[in-house]
Amino acid sequence: MVTYSQQVEQLAPLEQAVFQNSFVEELHGEASMDKTPRQVPGYHYSRVEPTAVQAPQLLAWSEDLAAYLGLERPSERGPAVDMLAGNQLAPSMKPFAARYGGHQFGSWAGQLGDGRAISLGELTATDGTNWEIQLKGAGPTPYSRRADGRAVLRSSLREFLCSEAMHYLGVPTTRALSLVATGDEVVRDMFYNGNARPEPGAIVARVAPTFVRFGNFQLMAAMGELDNMRALADYVIRHHYPELGAPSPAVYVRWFEEICRRTAVMIAHWMSVGFVHGVMNTDNMSILGLTIDYGPYGWLEPYDPDWTPNTTDFGSRRYAFGQQPQVALWNLYQLARALAHLVETPQDLQQGLETYRTTLAQTRHTMLLQKLGLTSLALEEDRALVEELLEALAGSEIDMTLFFRQLSHTAPSLLLNAENEDATWRELLAKAAYSMSMEEEQTLVQWLQRYLQRLRQESASPEAIRESMLRVNPKYVLRNYLAQKAIEAAEAGDLAFLNTLMEVLKTPFAEQPEHEELAAKRPDWAREKPGCATLSCSS
Ligand code: AMP
Ligand code: MG
Repeated sequence: MVTYSQQVEQLAPLEQAVFQNSFVEELHGEASMDKTPRQVPGYHYSRVEPTAVQAPQLLAWSEDLAAYLGLERPSERGPAVDMLAGNQLAPSMKPFAARYGGHQFGSWAGQLGDGRAISLGELTATDGTNWEIQLKGAGPTPYSRRADGRAVLRSSLREFLCSEAMHYLGVPTTRALSLVATGDEVVRDMFYNGNARPEPGAIVARVAPTFVRFGNFQLMAAMGELDNMRALADYVIRHHYPELGAPSPAVYVRWFEEICRRTAVMIAHWMSVGFVHGVMNTDNMSILGLTIDYGPYGWLEPYDPDWTPNTTDFGSRRYAFGQQPQVALWNLYQLARALAHLVETPQDLQQGLETYRTTLAQTRHTMLLQKLGLTSLALEEDRALVEELLEALAGSEIDMTLFFRQLSHTAPSLLLNAENEDATWRELLAKAAYSMSMEEEQTLVQWLQRYLQRLRQESASPEAIRESMLRVNPKYVLRNYLAQKAIEAAEAGDLAFLNTLMEVLKTPFAEQPEHEELAAKRPDWAREKPGCATLSCSS
């Protein structure tokens, strides 16, 4: 057995790592290295190198992910950080930008592609699996259209922190290895209202088995590039779904069904922790069912299905919290329309959409029951109980995370001693509510009373119920205002709060009493503040 210290000794500097290039070598690429924005028909990707930045400096490093990849922590400046900023390439790297399209806000947008993300290649992790390393904000590519290929510190820090926080919550997600300041300024008009200003630039090194999206297939279908589409499907299946066997029309059908299943599991997780992606365009849907492309995302504070942080979406609220299950299904349907060209009987793909519906319904229900400490005894009554809770929460201003976390402590205690049941419930609600009318309180207290009756039917001990609830109801999530505080401090050169958040969010289900304030209700000042309550796509 390899001990931890032996493993640490085996960690190597990034600049010595050897990269694989399966995407580049097995697929069809345009080799010109030309960065001029253009249409790239007929190709899966374009070879392109990152554009160097002024003064790369490491701001954050994901220790556990790095150890898993066999990488040692680099110093603040030096060859590894130069690589993470795109200023230096390893001889084994063959960097590329992928070509994809997508539906944006329901409309077909044609070719999009990696306009600012450049993949360096794949690293083999300590368990032998391969992981693509991609720099987001590494400069122009043929897919940059009219934009600059860069990313600002605020959006990069948000992506870095949230992808790791999601991972530690157990949500399927792409990962983030490093956050590097570029030393360059990037001009952005944060709310598209004529107030453009220079902001510090940054680059995140993202990590995933692959960054292929629904939109890669959609674009090739739209352009009639069926051989290319088949080649990409075969690549994804061979590398990432090997359990399905050698690609064939019948395997494509089973593959689509598996994509649907994984997407359902991902959405169930989002709904369970209160995550709102914010821009669920089909180019932001991973073919592996991972949360991808963290932009104007947010976390529910008051439980509100209609909430979205994305100002671009305030009119139609297409991507609001409660819409996410439906939108993912719509997106899967668009993917099915593309894959229909590869199968013998397109109707067979219907089964996948059905699997999405049933997997999502079952997984969501199971997760909600777990959040309530219930095991499935009386299915029908439990469904009604759960539905009524969600309705009551939506009808009041109760913090979702706090409610379930408090419940995990309070409900098992009341099982042991229900003497002051009503007062105890009112106390819980007061802790979790931003505001509450008498009627709202009454509705919730009545629900809680019925819930306690139901909980009494469980055979597990109150202590076991408490433990099971604490394992699924996080105490710490990346509340919108916490990310904003970390950004403001980092922009002023202070990384202490970012480091604290990284550490605390690694064990979101642990009490960590010394960090109680990070589990508190959103403060009043953050209610309407830009960056906390409202975000735009400008990043
Ligand atoms: P997003 O909404 O961030 O998923 O981006 C949609 C598309 O716009 C993708 O093709 C991105 O690569 C591209 N894009 C976004 N921001 C930039 C930028 N600053 N420079 C170049 N391309 C960008
Ligand atoms: Mg995107």
